[in-house]
Amino acid sequence: MSARVLVVDDVPVNRRLLEAKLAAEFYEVAMAASGAEALAMASKWSPDVILLDVMMPEMDGFDTCRALKDQPVTAHIPVVMVTALIDRSERVRGLEAGADDFLSKPVDDATLFARLRSLLRTKQVQDAWRLRAETARQLGVEPLPGPQAVVAGSTVLVLADAAEAAEIGACLRADGAVPTLLSTVEEATAALAVPSARFDLAILALPAVGTEHLRLASRLKAQQATRDLPVLLVADPAQRELVLRGFEIGASDYVLRPTDGNELRARARNQIRRRRYEERLRTDLDRSLELAVSDPLTGLRNRRFVQHHLEAALRAGDVSVMMIDVDRFKAINDGHGHAGGDIVLREVAERLRSQLRAADVVARYGGEEFLVVLADAPPEEAVAIAERLRVALEKTPIPTGQSEASVTVSIGLAITPVGVSASEAVAAADTALYRAKALGRNRVEVAQSPQHPPQRLG
Ligand code: GH3
Ligand code: MG
Ligand code: MG
Repeated sequence: MSARVLVVDDVPVNRRLLEAKLAAEFYEVAMAASGAEALAMASKWSPDVILLDVMMPEMDGFDTCRALKDQPVTAHIPVVMVTALIDRSERVRGLEAGADDFLSKPVDDATLFARLRSLLRTKQVQDAWRLRAETARQLGVEPLPGPQAVVAGSTVLVLADAAEAAEIGACLRADGAVPTLLSTVEEATAALAVPSARFDLAILALPAVGTEHLRLASRLKAQQATRDLPVLLVADPAQRELVLRGFEIGASDYVLRPTDGNELRARARNQIRRRRYEERLRTDLDRSLELAVSDPLTGLRNRRFVQHHLEAALRAGDVSVMMIDVDRFKAINDGHGHAGGDIVLREVAERLRSQLRAADVVARYGGEEFLVVLADAPPEEAVAIAERLRVALEKTPIPTGQSEASVTVSIGLAITPVGVSASEAVAAADTALYRAKALGRNRVEVAQSPQHPPQRLG
């Protein structure tokens, strides 16, 4: 996996050492000699990971990290602090500043590359989501408010023996997270298999013997439903090999025993926040997809969507298509104003939708034209449905604020055999609609099929 790494260190020999190691593994490397340089490079060069020295004159690693996390263009770049310090309170300070991990000097190669791979994997996923969200933004979709920094209310699965589970549980509760404490892999598997189960994080405390826990981690990463669940390992210093294997499998982070509560909390918080950020990107995307296929005024499907849908439906079988047009809508606009006209269109949409089944597609096709594609309705039923739609409008006038509008629609129905093109089906429905208009409006006209001569209905 090739990626860009920015190495930040005030001591030239340290920079060169890391550069050599990274270049040997085919990483692209850039270097910065101070916090200020790091900030400038990070914005300009967009590295995938930043290796950041803690002890630097002027702006130290903590300040630099905080500044990176504060700038929107660099906030998402993972930061690994490289430090000679082993003091736990310093680690917690780093995590609080937004660091994703620590490496101690001299840097151990296996750990360095395992960490890089894990961080890059997470970043790739996030980059893909961010790119799609960005595309949506360019299409005019408003972004949602920023990610929640709080972890309160998040759900965490904890797999550990009873004493350790209680300890971990207490740490999590201190941040308002809701832990589910389990002591066997079977229990954890069962808890994760519940269809409504939703966890923000899984903490797996490795026992002194056995690799069952890692097998569980591996299953989590293999399954669609749990693939994105971050996994945090708790291990003994002697279990370094297992931790490295855990990273290969897809674990996101680890804490070494004896577990420092503040460090565990800080790491758990980072993972939960990242998970929530990813979920937000996903929601943004779902929303933008929804907007891409919807009509903004009525919330109905838009013309582009219904055309695709109709094509697909006609490949699969016979389809009943209705073109529905509001009668004398110009007069409604004239009498009730354009805003009043909009209210009428929204209500027409609502009435159409409420008369149809979920599987039917109703779309706004043009200004005051609607297209309905019925899912799988026999011809007599399609005619009855069209008539029902017509009556649903005629029956009750629509309030437009000051007054109310009597609204009727004309409907052209085409019962179209499989294999006919979408545009032929729409043209047939349109022809029937024009006949309905010509014959006095507020009525349904049927074109049996594009091949058959149209037949009039009362
Ligand atoms: P007919 O019975 O023959 O369909 O007559 P009509 O007046 O409904 O038909 P026409 O197509 O001549 O006029 C449609 C009008 O719909 C013209 C246009 O200004 C108006 N219109 C189109 N889109 C909108 C919209 O989004 N909001 C409002 N308020 N009016 C719209
Ligand atoms: Mg009209
Ligand atoms: Mg019209």
